[in-house]
Amino acid sequence: MKNIILFVLCIFLFFSNCTEKKIQDKKPKLVVSIVIDQMRYDYLTRYAERYGKGGFNRILKNGFSLENAHYNYIPTYTAVGHASIFTGTTPNNHGIISNNWYDKFLKESIYCVDDSNYATVGNSGNVGKKSPQRLYTTTISDELHLAQNMKGKTIGLSIKDRSAILPVGHTANGAYWYDAANNNQWVTSSYYMKKLPKWVADFNANNNADNYLNETWNTLYDINTYEKSRSDNNIFEKNLNGKATPTFPKKLKELRAKNGNFNLIKTVPAGNTYTVDFAKAAIIGEQLGKTAYTDFLTVSFSSTDYIGHRYGVAAVETEDTYLRLDKDLEDFFTFLDTEVGKNNYTLFLTADHAAVHVPAYLQSLKISAHYMDAKKFKNFILEITQKYFNSKELVENISNYQIFLNKDKIASLGLDKNEVAQKLADEVINFDKIYKAVTARTLQTTNFTDGIMNSLQNGYNQKFSGDVLMIPYPATLIRERKGTSHGSGYSYDTHIPIIFYGNGIKKGKSSKKYSIIDIAPTISNLLKIESPNGTSGKVIEEALK
Ligand code: ZN
Ligand code: ZN
Repeated sequence: MKNIILFVLCIFLFFSNCTEKKIQDKKPKLVVSIVIDQMRYDYLTRYAERYGKGGFNRILKNGFSLENAHYNYIPTYTAVGHASIFTGTTPNNHGIISNNWYDKFLKESIYCVDDSNYATVGNSGNVGKKSPQRLYTTTISDELHLAQNMKGKTIGLSIKDRSAILPVGHTANGAYWYDAANNNQWVTSSYYMKKLPKWVADFNANNNADNYLNETWNTLYDINTYEKSRSDNNIFEKNLNGKATPTFPKKLKELRAKNGNFNLIKTVPAGNTYTVDFAKAAIIGEQLGKTAYTDFLTVSFSSTDYIGHRYGVAAVETEDTYLRLDKDLEDFFTFLDTEVGKNNYTLFLTADHAAVHVPAYLQSLKISAHYMDAKKFKNFILEITQKYFNSKELVENISNYQIFLNKDKIASLGLDKNEVAQKLADEVINFDKIYKAVTARTLQTTNFTDGIMNSLQNGYNQKFSGDVLMIPYPATLIRERKGTSHGSGYSYDTHIPIIFYGNGIKKGKSSKKYSIIDIAPTISNLLKIESPNGTSGKVIEEALK
């Protein structure tokens, strides 16, 4: 009898083991990416005490956190960040070299996702004339589509167009962004579809942006408890129009008229809540995570960036925004549990770049920081070409710390373009804010394996980038002395959180150095699909089960 019981128990254990293994091996039904625009790594630690259990802390505790992950190219801007996360490679390969850049072939400045071949879907305005045509490599979701014979849905959404379009690549079923200017609607491009799906039209019809903008933004907790930030009223923050000081409370109802009406939602935490509302509508509307195929949803929170630019890193506004975002995330994770199922999704959270402390604030602390005068800089460059080549027409454009030469003019004067470029690189270093300068030719012929020159090289695209590339000192911005920005290859701009969570992910953390381009091959490996076609990152093995 005893033996029979033992035998039955063994059989039972054997089969229960099998089922367990089966569940573990099952692919996620949905991959959700969360990109938080301008989130520095230290926002995780700086505000940790007041994060709740269900938001950042939930995925930190139960997921895998990379504590020393960095961007590995210059410039660290939104479009470039979003492209690099999802393609697993850098601008030298994927082609998105900035948000805006000078197009040598068109001889004009262009915006990364503009495409006049397409029309707005949702209204008759211009904000939908977009596509991912300037992205030259595939994304994770493109590869997922190819692997599943175009089955499974891939959807991107964000208040910013570029943050909705670039993550889901070329084959997306839809990408949606917010048209605040005229219509207070979520729109898309005819690149994806002819007509808005019913769920988007319904969301627009029952739009609650209005409700959010009739509220007052006050701090979540007693303002005196915001000890991680400077005092609320200080000279380093940019004010909203119609307010005398950059302080709480911010009565949005009164302020919206003077701050672009619906555009104001971008610069308040409610913009994040509003994004979660739309993400939930997308999951329900598209029935994501309900079939045998894996779906992919990319959600990018833009308000953190607008708020960061305006108030800076050490502002009560920024602290409050992250405390509120933590609650929005908790709400979104709980929704995913119920709607998709706890073990059915894999999630990763990261940022498209970080940000520098307001340079004027750093200066007030005697830390080296600088402001560049773009006009003075341009004149300095033209003086160089005048002095050495007797012409001020040798430069076509200066943008993103790159000089684009006028090659026709150089040829017509019988000059050598490499000689002109080298002279500029040698001389521009004498401009007081410029720290390093190098010619494109040097980047083509030298292999920089680490440090900031490696980042410059990873950001340099032989086809699209300029002829001379420059790097300013750390903490240098070209902007007014209030608020802040990003774009450099220094650690304050490159150090970002990367947290994986859910199906297929181990619990743990690592302080090893990883790059942003390691996310795409890791998720591809988890899904057992090919990595994006330009991938130069590596699989983060320690994060995977
Ligand atoms: Zn950004
Ligand atoms: Zn920004």
